[in-house]
Amino acid sequence: MAAKSVDWSASFRLGESEMRYIFISGGVVSSLGKGLTAACIGALLEASGLRVSLKKFDPYLNVDPGTMSPFQHGEVYVLADGAETDLDLGHYERFTNAKLDASCSLSSGKIYESIIRRERRGDYLGETVQVIPHVTDEIKKHMEVPDGEVDVTIVEIGGTVGDIEGMPYMEAIRQFILEHGKGNVLHGHVALLPFLRVADEIKTKPAQQSVALLRGMGIQPDMLFCRTEKPITVDLRKKLGLFCNVAADGVIEELDVQSIYEVPAMLHRGGVDRFILNHFSMDSSSCDLWEWEEIARRASARSRDVAIALVGKYVDLKDAYKSVYEALEHGALANGCRLRIVRIDPDTLPGSDMDAIFAGCGGILIPGGFGNRGIEGKLAAIAYGRRTRIPFFGICLGMQLATVEFARNVVGLAGANSTEFDPQTPYPVVSLMEEQKSFTAKGGTMRLGSYDCSLAAGTKLQKSYGCSKISERHRHRYEFNGAYGKQLEENGMVFSGIGVGGLVEAVEIADHPWFIAVQYHPEFQSKPLRPHPLFRDFIAAAAKI
Ligand code: GLN
Repeated sequence: MAAKSVDWSASFRLGESEMRYIFISGGVVSSLGKGLTAACIGALLEASGLRVSLKKFDPYLNVDPGTMSPFQHGEVYVLADGAETDLDLGHYERFTNAKLDASCSLSSGKIYESIIRRERRGDYLGETVQVIPHVTDEIKKHMEVPDGEVDVTIVEIGGTVGDIEGMPYMEAIRQFILEHGKGNVLHGHVALLPFLRVADEIKTKPAQQSVALLRGMGIQPDMLFCRTEKPITVDLRKKLGLFCNVAADGVIEELDVQSIYEVPAMLHRGGVDRFILNHFSMDSSSCDLWEWEEIARRASARSRDVAIALVGKYVDLKDAYKSVYEALEHGALANGCRLRIVRIDPDTLPGSDMDAIFAGCGGILIPGGFGNRGIEGKLAAIAYGRRTRIPFFGICLGMQLATVEFARNVVGLAGANSTEFDPQTPYPVVSLMEEQKSFTAKGGTMRLGSYDCSLAAGTKLQKSYGCSKISERHRHRYEFNGAYGKQLEENGMVFSGIGVGGLVEAVEIADHPWFIAVQYHPEFQSKPLRPHPLFRDFIAAAAKI
C-alpha cells in the first residue's frame, strides 16, 4: 500500500508578510559571541528607528535550560513571564528594548515535546511523523512573528554549523528564505578567524570551510561577521568575500574589544546597519547611536576604583553569574567607577584569615545558588560583612542565607538553616511553601518570573527604588519562613519588601551602612544606561561615594 502523501502546502507558504528576518548562525568554534552580535544588530536597528524582536533556538533536547548545571550552560536567564532561558536573552534585553517572552526561547526539546504530544493525541493519524516536514515546519512556525508589533525579527541558532543536532534548523532556514523571499531575509554567519602566531598571520580557511558547510545545506550567507583578535585588511575581506560568495561590504570585522558595550558602535563603523537596511530596501540614513556613545563616554571618564567580592560556587566559570557581573558594571558606570570583581570560592573561607581575603574589597555580594556546597563559607562571608560593616548585597540564596546567619549569630538560634540544606534543622528559617511540597517534577516548577512587591516606607530599599511598588523576577523554590519574622525583627532585621501572600522579598539590617538582601533577581532588569537602583547604590556604598 502506498504511504499517505504529505500535505506539502502547509510547509510551503509564500510569504506575504511585511516582517524582515535576520538569521544568525555560528561557525568554526562555539563561544564566538553570536548572541552578542545578534543583540548588537538589534541595538543598531533600534537606533535606526526600527522595532525589533529577538529569538534564540537551542538545538539541545532539554525543554529549557532550567534543569542544566551552570557548568553545562552558564547562567539561566529568567524572563518576566517566568520562562527559563539561555543567557543570550540577557544580552538581547540589555542591548535592546525588545519585549521578550517564552516564545522567544526555543529548544529542540520544546519543539519535539509539542510534536510528540500532538502525535499521541492523534493529530497526525495515518502519517509518518518525520524531521522533514514535521520538525522543520514546527521550527518555522516558531520562527515566524506576526506583522504589526515589530519590523525586524532576529533569530539566533545555538551551536555551530555542522553539529548534527543543528541540521533541522538549517533546513528550516533554507525553506524559510525560499518562502519569504531573499529580500526579506538576511543570513549572518559569525565565524572565527584564528591568528597563527608562528605564521604571524590571520587564517581564513576555517571560516571558508564553515561557509562551505552552510552552502552545502543550501544557505548562502549574506554577511560574514569575522571574530578576530587583530584588525583585518581590505584585501583579506575581499578574499574572504570572494571565497565565501559574500559581497566585500558584507564581510564585517568584529574585533575583540575591552567592553561589550563598544560593540554596537564598532559594528556601525563597519557598516552593519547600512548593509542590512540596504538589503531590506529600507532607509539607512538615520542611525542615532547617542546611547552607546554616552556609555563609551562614561566608560572612559571613570575616576575611581571599586572592588567587589563575589562569593559563589561557580566563580571559575565566566558565564555562571553573567547578569550579576553586567549589573555590577552598570552600577560602576553610573558611579564613574572602574570595577574589579574579586571572585571568591566559598569553600576557601571557613577557618581562613577573612581580613586578608577581603582586604581592599569595598563590598560583598552573594548571588543565587542551589545545593549544599559552599553554604557554610557563604554564611561566614555574610557574618564578616555584617560585623565589619562592609556593604553587603545578597541575592536569592544570598538573602536566604542572610536570614539564616542572622538567626544563628544575632538571635542565637543555633543550627538554624534552610530545609534545602538541613531538612532536620531545629529552626527552619527558610523552608518550602505548601505548593512547592506538592511538586514532584523539577522542570519549570520553581517560583518563576515577575511578582509585585511593596516596599516599606523609610527603608534603604524604598529610598533606593524611589517608589513603593516594584515588580521583580524570581527563580527559587524556598522562601523565608514567616514564623521567624517577629524574632528576627526584634533583633534588628528589617523586612523591607513584602510580596504576594505576605512573602518576604527583601530584608535589611537597620544599624548597618548598607546591608540589603533580596529574594528576587534584580540583575535581570539592569541595563547599561538604566542601572538597577540596588546595583547603583551598592556600588556607591562600596566606593564610599
Ligand atoms: N536554592 C534556593 C531556592 O531554590 C535559592 C535559589 C536561587 O538562589 N536562585 O530557593
